[in-house]
Amino acid sequence: MNPISIMGVLPLRGSDEQGSGYFGAPRRGGRTHNGIDIAAPPGTEILSPIDGKVTKHGYPYKDDLTFRYIQITSSQNFHHRFFYLDPLLELGADAEEGFIIGRVQDLTSRYRGITSHFHYEIKTEWGEYLNPTELYLQENSTAGEAQAKVVKMPPAFKRYLEKHRKGS
Ligand SMILES: [Zn+2]
Repeated sequence: MNPISIMGVLPLRGSDEQGSGYFGAPRRGGRTHNGIDIAAPPGTEILSPIDGKVTKHGYPYKDDLTFRYIQITSSQNFHHRFFYLDPLLELGADAEEGFIIGRVQDLTSRYRGITSHFHYEIKTEWGEYLNPTELYLQENSTAGEAQAKVVKMPPAFKRYLEKHRKGS
């Protein structure tokens, strides 16, 4: 099995027993989803969509420290945060576009019926969340379902994919 998947070609998480993956989707306690969920099986290796530096390795859940997140900060000081990824880049490391940043963890062990995915959010230095959809999700399927939306592939991913295909 090819261990490397490219975020740019993975679909958004659609509706499942636990909710939906789009930006602004309702969450428990009247909150809204402040990022997007990108469907991917556990073990999928994810590439950085931006140039930046690894500024944080964190823990989404206080009661289960096996789950992790990795934060990459761009030169414009946007914090790109990837949840439920096992970090594969060290704190302080350069995370250039196309570098492998982490491996998708198995959320299905925590939430019954959830689509396996990782969460991607962009937080500004003043604490506002930007919508990553506008950066990466453009194309609707004929069904018009969020599930069928395709993550747009940034040029570096395309180059990487072409290189990878040639080598295989
Ligand atoms: Zn999410």
